[in-house]
Amino acid sequence: MTQVERRQWDVVIVGAGGAGLRAAIEAREQGLRTAIICKSLFGKAHTVMAEGGIAASMGNVNEGDNWQVHFRDTMRGGKFLNHWRMAELHAKEAPDRVWELETWGALFDRTKDGRISQRNFGGHEYPRLAHVGDRTGLELIRTLQQKIVSLQQEDFKETGDHESHLKVFQECTVTRVLKDGDRVSGVFCYERETGRFFVVEAPSVVLATGGIGKSFKVTSNSWEYTGDGHALALLAGASLINMEFVQFHPTGMVWPPSVKGILVTESVRGDGGVLRNSDGKRFMFDYVPDVFKEKYAESEEEADGWYEDPAKHRRPPELLPRDEVARAINSEVKAGRGTPHGGVFLDVSTRMSADVIKRRLPSMHHQFKELADVDITAQPMEVGPTCHYVMGGVDVDPDTGEALGVPGLFAAGEVSGGMHGSNRLGGNSLSDLLVFGRRAGLYAARHAESFAAGERPLVADAEIDRAAAEALRPFTPEEVAEGGTPENPYTIHQQLQQSMNDLVGIIRRDEEMARALESLAELRERARHAGVEGHRQFNPGWHLAIDLRNMLLVSECVARAALNRTESRGGHTRDDYPAMDREWRRANLVCTLTDPDATSGAGAGAAGQISLRRREMPPIRADLLELFEKEELIKYLTDEELTA
Ligand code: FAD
Repeated sequence: MTQVERRQWDVVIVGAGGAGLRAAIEAREQGLRTAIICKSLFGKAHTVMAEGGIAASMGNVNEGDNWQVHFRDTMRGGKFLNHWRMAELHAKEAPDRVWELETWGALFDRTKDGRISQRNFGGHEYPRLAHVGDRTGLELIRTLQQKIVSLQQEDFKETGDHESHLKVFQECTVTRVLKDGDRVSGVFCYERETGRFFVVEAPSVVLATGGIGKSFKVTSNSWEYTGDGHALALLAGASLINMEFVQFHPTGMVWPPSVKGILVTESVRGDGGVLRNSDGKRFMFDYVPDVFKEKYAESEEEADGWYEDPAKHRRPPELLPRDEVARAINSEVKAGRGTPHGGVFLDVSTRMSADVIKRRLPSMHHQFKELADVDITAQPMEVGPTCHYVMGGVDVDPDTGEALGVPGLFAAGEVSGGMHGSNRLGGNSLSDLLVFGRRAGLYAARHAESFAAGERPLVADAEIDRAAAEALRPFTPEEVAEGGTPENPYTIHQQLQQSMNDLVGIIRRDEEMARALESLAELRERARHAGVEGHRQFNPGWHLAIDLRNMLLVSECVARAALNRTESRGGHTRDDYPAMDREWRRANLVCTLTDPDATSGAGAGAAGQISLRRREMPPIRADLLELFEKEELIKYLTDEELTA
């Protein structure tokens, strides 16, 4: 029997980005003892890297804005595949969540009359993103951490222990959600520094682990984003939806190679940056799709006028939703009109003075100067698409965030699915984290409270043994016993990233995705034989070997769902099915684990580990449909839906 320390809490939150911290604050404010576990240092999460801002229809810069307009923009951006209830809750509650941050000490940039300033972003009809220069995520995380410290100080006054009701376990990785029958009973984790295992027992577990970008070669994501929460949910018996929709942000750095993929914030375009090809042409005017034609400018003059007088002009096409801009850039480069390093030019220097650029975009100025020796106040940037965000995630109840079919398991933030449909609008993630983080924390607390003393789900020793054996396997792969050479986890990871990039990337084709599935089957087999040397004390090779299980599971979901969906929509573009098909609008592709007892795909072969089924979404509520013109709905809904 594996001896591990067991700790008892009411609610455990996996992940300390915006969603995790907001959930933790809520659970603690409900009076529940709450533990936060995070893979990296506390405060180092993707949320901290968010640059542009938080979308909330406060109407500070344009009074025409309200939740209904935000709801409409979000549904349009997601090409009507969003779970409409989540989009509704998000649009209604986002302003309160931003105000709340301000009361907790966040210092947003101001308008001239002293209100929270809001900036333009792609797909948002009005200036809507509350921001702090281009470092909004940093301020968001700082504020949430400060709130946590203040709650810990209150607890100290009551109990004499700062960590009696809210404790952070940093640099610890969760490898399994544990269950007692159908119910969640806790999590199995290891400390990254010492390799020591421990178990946190709790009847409610909130997954807030962020994205999956590290399965792709060119990505804006950092090392932690190996799809852990997505995989943990699958392994615990939950489903994932919308996994075919991966957002390729149009503007990542393309040069030098060491920084390829690092994000260039959309604020650059929101604040006036224009995209040009190698002929100097402002090419986005050629790429406005029919569904957006009425809302976007047709000439440079009209587009430029919008910055001064948005009431009298239509928006520049550089501010189309991200999927449209990413595809356009891809086409320009493929047509031979790219920059020397395979991107296009993004220029802000001709539109704003150097002082304004340095004030509004300080991180971008610094990033290009330091990493590429480019001064963006005088020169254009070279940019191209980069894997940025996954719209797909855990299939949750829209109101509570509870994973369907797994009582006690909750998900919030990027790891949950449904909210953004086929394409997320910029700024809608930070607001999503706050709205649904709070909700998940609240309902996780209620779930934990529902158990009478002594009736909580239990963690069995056998489950701990199984989780420990799985985590230790890379130290003793079969090859070592047989005198052979084990597989190198780094090589497998590189080949996985290359396959996903080349075969399930921004433009997809039937035969390439089929090849990706074959490649994943082979990599899965090799991953079973991945081995590492050394000890459990800080051993990055071992950590990667563990993470491979998650990346392979998630990548299979992406490839299988993408192969199945025979249309193009949002973050899923097929060369062989280039049009959006109204018959697919209500379809969710639901991924589940074929054999929940298999730990690493052993024996899964080419058939894979993932089963896929198609499910229809509930019809959009009539009062929400009434927010749209019928002419617009015709573009998305089937005749049957329209008649109904
Ligand atoms: P994250 O902030 O990603 O946090 C995940 C947490 O989970 C981390 O603490 C991590 O350590 C932990 N974790 C992961 N796996 C495990 C495990 N196995 N065990 C324990 N802990 C684990 N969105 C916007 O709305 N506006 C923007 O301006 C914007 N800019 C962005 C800029 C960049 C460069 C990037 C990468 C993203 C940006 N986004 C933006 C997207 C947005 O930042 C993310 O979608 C969002 O922050 C995700 O938040 P989260 O709370 O879901 O997870």
